[in-house]
Amino acid sequence: MSKHSSVYFHIPFCKRLCGYCDFPKTMSLGRKDEVLAAMREELSARAAELEGTVLKTIYFGGGTPTVCSPEELGSLLGVIRALFDTSQVEEITVEANPDDLSDEYLCRLAKEGVNRLSVGVQSFRNEDLKMMNRRHDAEGAVRVVEAARRAGFENISIDLIYGLPDVSVEEWTESVKKAIELGVEHISTYCLTIEENTLFGKRGVKGADEDVVESEYEVMCRLLSEAGYEHYEISNFALPGYRSRHNGAYWKGTPYLGIGPGAHSYDGSNRRSWNPPTVGSYLGGAGAEKESLSQEELFDECVMVRLRTCEGVDLKEVEERFGADRKEHFLRLAERFISEGVLVRREDGRIAFTEHGWLVSDAVIEELFC
Ligand code: SF4
Repeated sequence: MSKHSSVYFHIPFCKRLCGYCDFPKTMSLGRKDEVLAAMREELSARAAELEGTVLKTIYFGGGTPTVCSPEELGSLLGVIRALFDTSQVEEITVEANPDDLSDEYLCRLAKEGVNRLSVGVQSFRNEDLKMMNRRHDAEGAVRVVEAARRAGFENISIDLIYGLPDVSVEEWTESVKKAIELGVEHISTYCLTIEENTLFGKRGVKGADEDVVESEYEVMCRLLSEAGYEHYEISNFALPGYRSRHNGAYWKGTPYLGIGPGAHSYDGSNRRSWNPPTVGSYLGGAGAEKESLSQEELFDECVMVRLRTCEGVDLKEVEERFGADRKEHFLRLAERFISEGVLVRREDGRIAFTEHGWLVSDAVIEELFC
């Protein structure tokens, strides 16, 4: 059976900088046409890297892909259709900013073949949105989900952020309840982390206290579970049948081609590469950086990624790929947490975090890799 594969497009433009963001992006849209043309060329030049695979998912991330018109995004899909067999593509996702999504825009996007939206809502409270320097307001976020339904989107994901400063657990709960009420199929939730190079970092903003973060996490898990969402990855919840196939492919280690400034690629074996991060260096023709991963690095990455998922680490797979000694060593380190029965569980030949364990997973992972 042929391997599955994915294509990721990185659209590095944003109209405004969000306080917490440290993704590669630029607010200068002057070279957008040049970047899109370079991305079409890059895709044509690198298509052979996915030879022998079956393309399953396509993802436009950023930055803000919706600073481009649907037809501009569609021009990249046009190159894909010319170069690949797309008959088995199941999911084409576009990350979107609520402010960009008029009824007309959404209809045109659907016409280009996009079948999944990932909307950067972040909060349904205007005070939080203002504090994060987001472009939209809470009413706008609700309007967009309703407009997307009218345009025929049946698979909508939204992002929410918890751990914000000066937000009570009750106020966070309002956002979670609103997401449930809207009936979106997928919710990604991120705990605010403040990096030095972000607006928040420079202003010395501090996230919520640990006990507030813990309460917010727990209330979110409970409410989403009661509403029928599966907590299938540390940051992701989905109604049955709506897990992100594209992200699932990353977690399974399938090959993907990353196109655009800063985009990463993986060959499904041991080679990774990443494009020059800035628009200037990308257009200037600086080549991609490449690395080959050792068995040790592959093992660490495999375990870390799998521990983020509810399925966890398959011990049989670890033994087959990395040998019995490595599996036994990992099991010995995990045993202490398994026997405590709170943070880590062993079930059906798999080691996985409990939902509570995910909350403190960084500290546990450190011990598992010592
Ligand atoms: S969070 Fe998204 S929209 Fe905001 S600055 Fe970062 S990439 Fe741009």
